[in-house]
Amino acid sequence: KELTDINTLSDEYLRLAYHGLRAKDKSFNAELITHFEENLPKATVVPQDLGRVLLNLFTNAFYATQQQKNIEGEGFKPTVSITTIATGNSIEIRVKDNGTGIPDAIKDKILQPFFTTKPTGEGTGLGLSLSYDIVVKAHGGTIDIMSAEGKGSEFIITIPVG
Ligand code: ADP
Ligand code: MG
Repeated sequence: KELTDINTLSDEYLRLAYHGLRAKDKSFNAELITHFEENLPKATVVPQDLGRVLLNLFTNAFYATQQQKNIEGEGFKPTVSITTIATGNSIEIRVKDNGTGIPDAIKDKILQPFFTTKPTGEGTGLGLSLSYDIVVKAHGGTIDIMSAEGKGSEFIITIPVG
C-alpha cells in the first residue's frame, strides 16, 4: 500500500475506461462529469487494485448508459459522474450513471462471483465480487449501492484514511 492521490487515480481510470470503450465502439459516447474535492487527503491503498475497482465501476456505468440509450433512443444523453468527498475518517468515491438501473430482484446478487446480466464475452461477473474483496476485505472500506430501475445507479465506495 502507498499514499495515493485518489483524485488523480480516479481521473486516470475514468479516462482509461472511456477511451477503451470508445476505441472498441465508435457509436459509444457519454458525458463525463467530475467533482473532485480539492484538498482531498491522500489514502493508503494499493493503487493498481483500487484502479481495477474504479475501472470496473466506470465500465459498468458506461455499459448501463448505452443500454438505456438503446431503450430511449438518440435523444438520450448518457452521463457518468464521479465525485470525491472527504468525510473526516474516510474518503468517499461516488460513481453515478443515468443508465438502466438495477432491478430489485437482482440487487442482492450482483456482488456474487460470476453473476452477470451481460452476454457471453461482454462480462465475467467478477468485477463487483473482486471489488468487494479489494475495498472491504483488503482496505477496510465499504461499498453501498443505490439504484432505481430505468433511472440509474450510484456506487459509493469509502476508504478509510490514515
Ligand atoms: P460484469 O460487469 O462482468 O457483468 P460485475 O460484477 O461488474 O460483472 O457486475 C455484475 C452485474 O451487476 C452486471 O452484469 C449488471 O447486471 C449489474 N450492474 C453492475 N453495475 C451496474 C450499473 N452501473 N448499472 C446497472 N447494472 C449494473
Ligand atoms: Mg463489470
